[in-house]
Amino acid sequence: MPDFAAYAAQEQHSRGRRVAEDKPVYRTEYQRDRDRIIHSAAFRRLEYKTQVFVNHEGDMFRTRLTHSIEVAQLSRSIARILQLNEDLAETIALAHDLGHTPFGHAGQDALNACMKEYGGFEHNLQSLRVVDELEERYAAFRGLNLTFEAREGILKHCSLSNAKLLGDVGQRFIDKHQPGLEAQIVNLADQIAYNNHDVDDGLRAGLLSIKQLREIKLFDAQYTQVKQTYPELAERRMTHEIIRRMINVTAIDLIDTTRRQLAQLKPANIDEIRRQSQPTAGFSEAMRDMNHELKQFLRHNLYRHYRVHRMTSKASRILSALFDAFLNDIGLLPHDHQTFARQYAEQHGDSGRARAVADYIAGMTDRFAITEYERIFNPAELT
Ligand code: MG
Repeated sequence: MPDFAAYAAQEQHSRGRRVAEDKPVYRTEYQRDRDRIIHSAAFRRLEYKTQVFVNHEGDMFRTRLTHSIEVAQLSRSIARILQLNEDLAETIALAHDLGHTPFGHAGQDALNACMKEYGGFEHNLQSLRVVDELEERYAAFRGLNLTFEAREGILKHCSLSNAKLLGDVGQRFIDKHQPGLEAQIVNLADQIAYNNHDVDDGLRAGLLSIKQLREIKLFDAQYTQVKQTYPELAERRMTHEIIRRMINVTAIDLIDTTRRQLAQLKPANIDEIRRQSQPTAGFSEAMRDMNHELKQFLRHNLYRHYRVHRMTSKASRILSALFDAFLNDIGLLPHDHQTFARQYAEQHGDSGRARAVADYIAGMTDRFAITEYERIFNPAELT
């Protein structure tokens, strides 16, 4: 058994599963959660979903699958150092993006706009919906029936109105409390991973340059060190060396700062972590400022780059058109989704029907959404 800190999530104190199950024979409860996620359909689809670049733009860029694996790797390392529950951290990391729409943030914004009158669309909430409701793999229950701690970690943000509908995992948003440290660590590891891989992908796509990035403190500090030690290094290796070091200093800052905060707080158990009004895990103020600067830079220079914007505007037109077409005529949906649409409509009227359409669209990969758009709108396309 690993040596857990007093405030780590430990399965003997778990708040359990929605449907009670026998204990696993050789695995921990959180290992079982992780294994269920890896075997889910939503997890496999992450391979063909993207964050910034559309999937067919090239095989070089991160997908949500490789992103989730990077987040899991960072989270596990940090969890182990802080004597947290590594299995739970890995579970939350692998599941954190399961509810994402096709086409990254553009897709999420488009679907949220479509769902405005029907309760909106939040990708965190959708990730929870995937593991609680949408996966159809077990005879005894709907969804994956994960532990409370995994579900708590997956629901990173949530509006107050949605929190009120969610019961146990929604309560902390009403009380303004925190999740366990494993969830807090994954949230920060997610930020470390995407900031750095977006720099890497942006450079590789030729949308960002090293010269531009030297305006950024976090990048420039590592650039200067690498250049001093290896003045002749070729650009690709230099880029990777800089990014590797950026990830390292950011992760070390997170571990050191969190340790300091833990030493002050001296939490006796996970519930004392949960009862705080602020997260216990975090970066130093200096690192927060540098991360903020990098984020702003990426927003202006990468996410709003005209070549990225062309793609995201196309993506949002595709999703809005699909949504309208399906909502106006659910007969266009595949049979099983028609059935869901009718069932939800019986229970919740128009909002229910719209939710079934949003579930269908959110589950699509980038390329499936493009193909489906062709099938629905291109008269030359025979389906
Ligand atoms: Mg993420």
